Amino acid sequence: MKVASSTTQAKPGENGAKLRRRFSKAFRQFKQFPATPFAVRQCISTVEFLAGAPRVLLTRRAYDTMFHIVDLADKEIGWLGTVTRRGSDFVIDEIFLFKQKVSDVETEISAEGIAEVGQEILMTRPDGMEVCNSLQFWGHSHVRMDTRPSGPDEMQMEMFRDSGHPWFIRGIFNKNGKAQFAIFFYDIGVKIEDVTWSIIEDVDDSMRASLQAEIAAKVTDAPPPVQVAKAHYGLGEDDELDAHARAEGFKLLGEIELHLDGRQPEEGEPRD
Ligand SMILES: [Zn+2]
Repeated sequence: MKVASSTTQAKPGENGAKLRRRFSKAFRQFKQFPATPFAVRQCISTVEFLAGAPRVLLTRRAYDTMFHIVDLADKEIGWLGTVTRRGSDFVIDEIFLFKQKVSDVETEISAEGIAEVGQEILMTRPDGMEVCNSLQFWGHSHVRMDTRPSGPDEMQMEMFRDSGHPWFIRGIFNKNGKAQFAIFFYDIGVKIEDVTWSIIEDVDDSMRASLQAEIAAKVTDAPPPVQVAKAHYGLGEDDELDAHARAEGFKLLGEIELHLDGRQPEEGEPRD
């Protein structure tokens, strides 16, 4: 579209008015083509983790406790654990066994068993209420079977949802060294299966002060490096200079033989 040149004697705003008229004429033509109604279609949905994919992190004591339980039991034993959220991650810290009837292929986790362990925690721990409220992890052993969840495992997770938890973690373990975790976000109806997990070790701060004192006592800054006063280039008699440097306390680090033609001397060849 050609726009009126600024050199014409147009009144202020006259060019703009011309342009608007041309655009409105063009848009009137577009009105002949009405919009097509939005069509329903099958979409391929994608999920994006805005704060990174959530992980399950195990404290050392949680890892050790679960390993020993799986190692010691030859049936599908189960347990509960405390979970706290750290950013987008879930940290499992303390593991609690509950009364249960186990078989080779399934574990029975009852409301009574959970209530009993809750009662025990409340009666024996000053932070009992906090601990009970953070019991949002259920783990169990598949002994030597694969760690894929079974039908009863999925039904079990519905029980935790019906208990009013907004989210819950499930862990399935076996004696072959495999652990598989799933995060159930009941509030948004999303399950993430086989999430990344690792062990976390929080730094022990109790030793920091004594280490700081020990470092201050044992570690001092080194003096700046001593420059080599001279090197023996083999170009003449400089024993006198050597003697002077040594008398001054400099250390002669080495000698360099320099041949003016740049080649290495042959064996037995007289040196310059
Ligand atoms: Zn199972």
